[in-house]
Order: sequence, then C-alpha cells, then structure tokens
Amino acid sequence: LLVSAKEFLAEALLNYSRGKRNFAILHAVAAAELVLKERLNRIHPTLIYKNIDEQRLERAKSVGLVDLPRRLANFDIRLEPREVTLVETFGKWRNQIVHHMPQFDEEAADEKLPQLLEFVAAFLRRELDIRFEEFLSGPLFKTASNLMSEWVRAVQEATTRAHEEGNIIGEACPQCGGVGVLCLRGEHDVYCHVCSAKRFRYDECEGCGRQTVGEPATGEGVICQGCIEAAGDQYLQMLDDIARGK
Ligand SMILES: [Zn+2]
Ligand SMILES: [Zn+2]
Repeated sequence: LLVSAKEFLAEALLNYSRGKRNFAILHAVAAAELVLKERLNRIHPTLIYKNIDEQRLERAKSVGLVDLPRRLANFDIRLEPREVTLVETFGKWRNQIVHHMPQFDEEAADEKLPQLLEFVAAFLRRELDIRFEEFLSGPLFKTASNLMSEWVRAVQEATTRAHEEGNIIGEACPQCGGVGVLCLRGEHDVYCHVCSAKRFRYDECEGCGRQTVGEPATGEGVICQGCIEAAGDQYLQMLDDIARGK
C-alpha cells in the first residue's frame, strides 16, 4: 500500500506542477486513501475490506474513502474534524472528476489540494511514523516545497541537525532547494539534512571557477547549477544549428 501511495503522491505533485488540476486531485486522493488503509492494515490486513465477514476476502471490495475515517475512529485512531471534512470533500470531487462532471470551484480546489497533501504528510508522520521527506524522491521536493508547510517543518528540523553537526555551507541544496541544511563532511563531500543527498561536492566549478556546491565533474572539481543550465542551452542551440544546416 505504501509503495503505491508513494507513486500516487509523486504523480499528484507532477501533475500539479504541470497545471493538470484534475489529475493532481485524482492522484492525491488515491494517496490519501492508501495511507489511511495502511493504518488499518497495520492493525489487521482484513480491516481494509468493506465487509470483513466476507468468505472470499480476496474478491471483496475494500472500504471506501469516505468510510475510512469512521472505521479508523472505531479503532481509536481519530482524525480531526477538519481532516474528516477534507477527506469527504475530496471524495466528492473525485467522483465528479471520474464521472466527467466537475462542479467544484477551481480556485477552491487549488486552495484545498495543498491541504490534502499536508494531511497525507501529517498522517504519515503521526500514524505511520514516516517522515514525508523520506517518502518523496529528489526532484519532487521543489514542487512540494512550494506547496506545503510540512516542508517548512522538514527544513526546520534539518537546520537543527545541520547545526548540531556543524560545517554548514550557506548555499541551497541543488536537489531539494533547502537552505542552511548542507554540511561539509571531510574536504569536499556535502550532505543534505533534508533530502539526504550525498552526491554533491563543495569545490571549484570547472565552468566558472566559483567555489560552490555542485555535481561532481569528470575531472577535478564540480559543475555548478548555472553552468549546467548554460551547457544545456548551448547544447540545444547546437542541435538547432545542426537542424538548420549550419
Ligand atoms: Zn537537499
Ligand atoms: Zn559554474
């Protein structure tokens, strides 16, 4: 369940960042449903089914999204009233989308979607003992960070860990964008306390000579983000020139 939840969450964030609101909602709702079911699953796998008395459970329907808060509450796992409302609202919206009749206000959806993702993050931490940042892969951190205050908490905690370790580098992490969370380990190795990135080095950039955090280069040193982007532009320009017969 958790593996699928992770995939749905990633899809939700990707679609959101591409402005595909309905797809983002569908995937975010699926992620929410799965983390709630995972909590039941941890009590007993049978509890994820709608009718637990079914003889052939493997063919049985699983409990629906809107019934999950009640089922959990009956096992003393309580969602806050606003969380229950949020789940119900998204349950409705999902049905509208699936039946090609979205009636919800698009602005309301844009405002509520981050709340649903926040809820997933909070539930993961509170009930499943999983930190949201462990649940996301690299490039999605930036999308999540624009969206969620859970990100703020992750960065705050990481800042504390970085301070305890010392040797902080004042630059943003190239992977997650967190600031004040990179520590220099040894001479050149960099560790990010938010996204756990270890592949970056602190060294002179081969392109521009600046002392910076970047991807390890083929020779000595690193390549900074600015130079990677510039190289990308140059490469595209070159392809364009070739295409035009230069
Ligand atoms: Zn990072
Ligand atoms: Zn550079």
